[in-house]
Amino acid sequence: MKIGVIGAGYVGLTTGLALAYLGHDVVSVDNDERKLGLLQQGQSPIHEFGMEDLMRLVSGRIAFTGDFHETVSDARVIVIAVGTPPKENGEADTQYVESAARHIAGHLEAGREYVLIVKSTVPIGSNRRIDHLVTRELEQRGVEAQVHIASNPEFLREGKALLDMLYPDRIVVGARRPEAVDTIYHMYKPLLEQTFAAPVFLPRPEGYKLPSLITTDPTSAEISKYGSNAFLALKISFINELAGLCERVGADVTQVSRVMGLDERIGPQFLSAGLGWGGSCLPKDTAALLAVAGEFSYEMPTIAAAREVNERQRRHIVEKLQASLKVLRGQVIGVMGLSFKPNTDDVRSSAAIDLVRRLLETGAHVRVHDPVAMDTARAQLDGLNLEYCEDPYVLAKGADALLLATEWPQYAALDLACLAGQMPRPVLVDARNLYKPEEASAAGFEYTGVGR
Ligand code: NAD
Repeated sequence: MKIGVIGAGYVGLTTGLALAYLGHDVVSVDNDERKLGLLQQGQSPIHEFGMEDLMRLVSGRIAFTGDFHETVSDARVIVIAVGTPPKENGEADTQYVESAARHIAGHLEAGREYVLIVKSTVPIGSNRRIDHLVTRELEQRGVEAQVHIASNPEFLREGKALLDMLYPDRIVVGARRPEAVDTIYHMYKPLLEQTFAAPVFLPRPEGYKLPSLITTDPTSAEISKYGSNAFLALKISFINELAGLCERVGADVTQVSRVMGLDERIGPQFLSAGLGWGGSCLPKDTAALLAVAGEFSYEMPTIAAAREVNERQRRHIVEKLQASLKVLRGQVIGVMGLSFKPNTDDVRSSAAIDLVRRLLETGAHVRVHDPVAMDTARAQLDGLNLEYCEDPYVLAKGADALLLATEWPQYAALDLACLAGQMPRPVLVDARNLYKPEEASAAGFEYTGVGR
């Protein structure tokens, strides 16, 4: 099947490569020249496990271009995977999706039948709007083509994007027309039946069960994506709220979450207390959900509270540093980790980056390190007076405190005694509960975790 993918970012690139691996012919279009240049040379513009290996494997079945005509005109399925960043008021900005839809419609050919998949996370009702934009553009061009629109939200996690794409929990298709569902079913058939040979570097997880294909109306598909992300945000905020109580009563939240997580109805994931959630999805999707609800004068107090707790948690981490160092002005603080979570270079709405800004506002001298996200962070923190360190031991040298902000496995493997040895008074605030308190103390640190 010929498939055109619009946008070669985290979602578009992962989708395109996976579909090519399943045997489809994929053309991927992006309007970012830098990204295209890298992709055309076989290099991944993002840090994601297995990406370049898969690019090499499928190089004969995927092309990267800036040309919409080549991407969509003879495609059977077209996937929109462009960004939907937040606007000032929290609403999702759909201008890129709408512009992509207009561009697509500008290149569709008469007499053909297309399925147009909206994979970007879009506000409720966007499918209808895209349908309208495409129909109007086709009418203006005088082109008669059949275009079936379907919502197919993406649930991948950065850092595990390819694994999530090849071995999903569920595939959701929200469409009004059965033709769209049928075509999408055939596109995903090798995934749904897991008939493909797993790439050696992306093995099928042990005990993996075949994913369900859930067909819904488009609006339910749109809400299911927002609902899933809001629930994950809620879970993290819940455990962080409980962590605050644990600190006050002298309990250990890591033990509490272990107990809670063993309850099948709750589950252990997203139940780790720490700095709270960030990234390109949970903050913007919770804001977008509240914005949509607001349009209907409907209140969603649990989601609003999850956001409030998340904001409070960041303040709370700065207060932990203040409790140890008192006045932060002029103190040297080394921040370990900048990406919003480990195994990605994505720093969009990263809680670590937010902490760096807050620390700078207190007048602290901030040093930063990240195993892979230094370049993406530099772009975000441009113009701020920071010290970028290539090595965590250099970061620690002479520092007044270390703040662990992203739980990279590389940081878990550090020699803590050697790290503490670099500092006049070794203070460590572990905002992700990465270290065992007794081990950090034995290494010489004055250790503070979250909720214990
Ligand atoms: P991204 O910013 O990494 O990628 C978007 C890409 O689209 C960019 O490369 C951009 O250059 C390109 N683009 C924008 N407008 C274009 C146009 N008119 N023509 C061609 N290319 C265009 O974004 P992302 O993280 O991949 O997210 C894409 C969508 O998927 C968003 O709606 C997001 O909410 C959703 N989503 C993201 C994730 C995630 O973990 N990143 C997970 C699930 C869903």
